[in-house]
Amino acid sequence: MLLSSGLVFARRLRAGLVLGRGPWRAVWPLALWLAVVGNVPLWQRVAALGGSQGQLWVLLAGLGLLVWGGTGVLLSLLAWPRVYRPAASLLVLVAAFNTHFMWQYGAVIDPTMLANVVHTDAREVRDLLSPALLFTVLLVAGVPLWWIWRQPLRTRRWLAQTGRNAGGAVLGLLGVVLITLLTYQSLASLMRNHKSLRYMINPLNSVYAATRLAADQLPQQVRTLQPVGEDAHLGARYAQQARPPLLVLVVGETARAQNWGLDGYARPTTPALARWQAQGDLVNFSQVQSCGTNTQVSVPCLFSPLTRAEGGDKTAEHESLLDVLQRAGLAVLWLDNQSGCKGVCERVPNASTRERQLPGLCEGGECFDEAMLHGLDDRIAALDPQRRARGVVLVLHQMGSHGPAYFKRTPPSRKPFQPECTSNTLSDCAAADLVNAYDNTVAYTDHFLDQTLTWLQQRAAAGANDTGLIYLSDHGESLGENGLYLHGVPYAFAPQQQTHVPMVAWLSPGLQQRTGVRADCLRARADQALSHDHLFHSVLGLMGVSTQAYQPALDLFGPCATPRG
Ligand SMILES: [Zn+2]
Repeated sequence: MLLSSGLVFARRLRAGLVLGRGPWRAVWPLALWLAVVGNVPLWQRVAALGGSQGQLWVLLAGLGLLVWGGTGVLLSLLAWPRVYRPAASLLVLVAAFNTHFMWQYGAVIDPTMLANVVHTDAREVRDLLSPALLFTVLLVAGVPLWWIWRQPLRTRRWLAQTGRNAGGAVLGLLGVVLITLLTYQSLASLMRNHKSLRYMINPLNSVYAATRLAADQLPQQVRTLQPVGEDAHLGARYAQQARPPLLVLVVGETARAQNWGLDGYARPTTPALARWQAQGDLVNFSQVQSCGTNTQVSVPCLFSPLTRAEGGDKTAEHESLLDVLQRAGLAVLWLDNQSGCKGVCERVPNASTRERQLPGLCEGGECFDEAMLHGLDDRIAALDPQRRARGVVLVLHQMGSHGPAYFKRTPPSRKPFQPECTSNTLSDCAAADLVNAYDNTVAYTDHFLDQTLTWLQQRAAAGANDTGLIYLSDHGESLGENGLYLHGVPYAFAPQQQTHVPMVAWLSPGLQQRTGVRADCLRARADQALSHDHLFHSVLGLMGVSTQAYQPALDLFGPCATPRG
């Protein structure tokens, strides 16, 4: 009986291959492959959760059938002759790439992760290419791509095709409902306790993320940006100033508090900043939370008038801090050594290091962060003279500790921690070597800030400006804790390594006098709980910009300042 039905199946299968496949035969084997092979990281994660063997098998079988059913429903809806093969191939490739990044870095795929992918650039992509990536893609996508392209779908009349596709989708859906009912108890508690698992379901995670992203973006296109601080003007301090203020905002990249020397890390990753701190005018803030776990969310949020709770982490609908500063009459300049300013600097003067040719600092379209300091006096001098005479806010957007190729962020002479990992395939390296490479990037940021502070001190000493600097990292990084690497874990369950970030502020004596914000007052408040929410209002306060948009409660300098004028 079994044999004969097997023979019948084989004959049908052959007929299917010769004549072209019906949608069912095209859809369900592919869905099964994607569910099983395309979700190995998910199955590994579930298996690692522990529990009894019996429970584990119920979970694996239940979840496996759900993923098979869900994928089958999706593919059934796509089973149109000219649509199916490209669409199915895309899903297979997406699943293969996802598998690699989940495996290598413990990444999960949610809407913000996809937004990152959409906004990536050639440099970032180059950092991620590796033989391991090629191997995983071939392993996961090779067989199904061959199978998809071997035979076309059998063409039917429109109505019959619709009936077949809908039939497949409905059947799949019924299966999903049935399995859900049968395994509800254990699956529901699994999903409740391990929310990030849902973002590991390949390739449905990407389909969900793409749909969410598109839904967020579409209305955005027609909406205009909300103006912020239309009443912004400069306070009384500007009436008779001898030296216009010059504030540098350094937007750090992927630096985490845990490896920050000034935050108590056992290794000396911030020796230069420690010297500035000892001199008395630099304050380290030890309890700062980022707004997001990736650049795409954090950078706009940092400059947003909205707090994270008010939606500062969502796609920006408001003008940024830089717009308000410019409207108040100040000169603003954004210098970028990264993948751009994520819309924050669109309406202010901005420049990138990308086209710079600086021997020893730039190579192959990439520069070390120090390249941003080259010719800085000239750049300042080139700004609108009337604005410059009032004051300047200069943003330096670092490459910082951007991974996974940490070793590429530091010049050969600035690698105090050895041996360092020199591969972007993190599993190729010993954990300690990976930390060495990361710590070298932190030490290089320390050096970069040291250079920047020296430049600011010189300008203050020359009587050109009252100068100040705020450094704040955009988000942290995982270096293998709990099997996680890189960053971008959805905020609700992100580990503190990805959200607890370093921050320092340095005010020249002239700026302290001008604003009344004394370093010793700030030092006494260095351990207060702060977040990215504070930057917008703190900069307005420090620069003496008056506007309704300013909220004193979120100005970290406020409690130390003399009454604003
Ligand atoms: Zn970042």
